[in-house]
Amino acid sequence: MNVRATPARDLPLETTGEAVIEFSGLGKLYPAGEAENWVLNDVDLTIRAGEMVAIVGASGSGKSTLMSLIGCLDSPSAGTYRLFGQDVSQLDADELAAVRRDHFGFIFQRYHLLDELSALGNVEVPAIYAGTDIDDRRARAKMLLDRLGMSERTHHRPGQLSGGQQQRVSIARALMNDGDVILADEPTGALDSHSGEEVLRILRELHGEGRTILIVTHDMDIARQAQRIIEISDGRIVSDGHNPEFRPLGRPGDVSAEREPETDGPARLGGIGERLREAFLMALRAMNAHRLRTLLTMLGIIIGIASVVCVVALGAGSRQMVLANISSLGTNTLEIFAGKGFGDTRSSRITTLTVGDSDALSALPYVAAVTPTVSTSGVARFANKEGNALINGVGAGYFDVKGTKLSAGQFFGERAVRDYAQEVVIDENTRDALFTPLHVDPVGEVIILGDVALKVVGVAQAQTSGFGSSSNLQLYVPYTTVQARFTGSNSLRSITVRVADDVDTDAAQVAVEKLLTRRHGTVDFHIMNTDDIRETITSTAETMTFLIAAIAVISLVVGGIGVMNIMLVSVSERVAEIGVRMAVGARQADILVQFLIEAVLVCLLGGMIGVMIAMAAGPVISLIQPSFSFVYSPATILAAFASSNVIGIVFGYLPARNASRLDPVVALSK
Ligand code: ADP
Ligand code: MG
Repeated sequence: MNVRATPARDLPLETTGEAVIEFSGLGKLYPAGEAENWVLNDVDLTIRAGEMVAIVGASGSGKSTLMSLIGCLDSPSAGTYRLFGQDVSQLDADELAAVRRDHFGFIFQRYHLLDELSALGNVEVPAIYAGTDIDDRRARAKMLLDRLGMSERTHHRPGQLSGGQQQRVSIARALMNDGDVILADEPTGALDSHSGEEVLRILRELHGEGRTILIVTHDMDIARQAQRIIEISDGRIVSDGHNPEFRPLGRPGDVSAEREPETDGPARLGGIGERLREAFLMALRAMNAHRLRTLLTMLGIIIGIASVVCVVALGAGSRQMVLANISSLGTNTLEIFAGKGFGDTRSSRITTLTVGDSDALSALPYVAAVTPTVSTSGVARFANKEGNALINGVGAGYFDVKGTKLSAGQFFGERAVRDYAQEVVIDENTRDALFTPLHVDPVGEVIILGDVALKVVGVAQAQTSGFGSSSNLQLYVPYTTVQARFTGSNSLRSITVRVADDVDTDAAQVAVEKLLTRRHGTVDFHIMNTDDIRETITSTAETMTFLIAAIAVISLVVGGIGVMNIMLVSVSERVAEIGVRMAVGARQADILVQFLIEAVLVCLLGGMIGVMIAMAAGPVISLIQPSFSFVYSPATILAAFASSNVIGIVFGYLPARNASRLDPVVALSK
């Protein structure tokens, strides 16, 4: 379809040029309520290269409809249209876009410039869709504006230009791709008479260069300047003849571009790159033009992404914290308590758990260590300081089983347990309460517990983790000493068993249950398995994380629907813009990509802000509530970006497709 206007310029007029436009029996039908309305009826018309034709008629006679059909913005309901000999009805949407891009230049009564672009930017648009590279198209746009006396105004927005100036910009745009045929629908209709004459003079000059010019007008004065006048009335051609008053204009300067032959391959790919770049810039411009709306649209995505990232980070953080806590319980340990359960009200009075049980258990082959525990409480005193303390009567293996760490001194050993030694390991809380205020090193000092004197042999690190309150004063005394000096009973609170490394904890638990049941004749104890606790807590934390993350994902989906909503509004607001783009040759894919990129950009930007908020929120929340810890992983953040991308594509697709499927003539009439 790349046929140049043949040089009809120097030949006499009339039927010498090649037939560009051939209508035969052409009709256009519009539904009008119940009835049908043939807006154009049985139009036979041939327009040859290099002609300057005025189409005149009353308002509503069908002139604009005829123009849309000629320009392939609309398709006829009857008859055939041959453009350069080819039947236009055979062309698909993209081929029609190519025809508009390569062969036609449109000039509208209301200019139809894009408000967000400068004069130069507007003139360039057709070349973007043609895939012309940026330097060439900028140079040509400048040259055209220059030629039309607009060199001073290249960077003005349409809103800063007068009507006549805007019309000149739109003429430059029509010439951008060096189309053979200029279609001008009432080009002077909105202009004062001086500007109107200017525009007409330009059109006559373009005709002088050999272009085919079609002007729609209802003004006979304008029509008289054309070479041929076609009059239509009620959708039919009523007269068509040569205008004897026509005086051709000279050729001041040819603006035809030296067209390079169209090539496939790299050049076309380069064109796609250009178009993508432009789609990206156009999306940015549109977002910038509606900043508040863009921000509000993003809000759903921002909140969704921020909460997903926060929740996942919090989940990871608490899992880490819980695991650290559980590890303070020791691994592979069974804790045997007196009573049937923690709820057993008699458990404090059950005295059946004894040192005998502990000894029996330690004889079992799958047991690595056993430590009996008794507990009571009392007032600990040193000099003039005192405090309520929990007294843990423990075996020498206790510290090993629990993984307790020393910060000073040492633990007591088997000998101390055997000898009822009056030794104590205090924790850091006790040290801080009794010794630190007096600036005394506790190791080697003697504290008074009730009325028993105990020598401090070591300081254990405070159990900041675990399930006991971390500010308790904890004292560790040989259990034999506690039984003899404090409780006066042989019974134990609990026995902690560390299972041998190569033995399954559950199997060991069954064996321990069997042994104790045989010894006691009844099940008057219960066993806490740290592995079970770990699993329960971990899986609970995971379930919680999953649940909250699911809620966050739902909020993301809602955010996505918000994006879709706003994009649909945006498309319907910009129908006219889409129409203009299609008229100058944008393919459906160009429009689709433009809106899709906009949706994706909105979502990506929202995702980015969301991630930043989440990253900032973590430290702030941990500052206020230290028990919350956030662990951010790069994987989560990448996933957040990826999902905002996906949301943009998924929820932007429908609006973008709607935009690309718009009928150019309908879009233009908006
Ligand atoms: P002109 O440009 O000569 O003023 P038009 O070609 O715009 O006239 O319109 C011709 C007739 O077609 C008018 O009566 C108008 O109401 C009708 N018409 C134009 N577009 C449509 C449409 N999309 N649907 C129904 N009727 C239409
Ligand atoms: Mg009209």
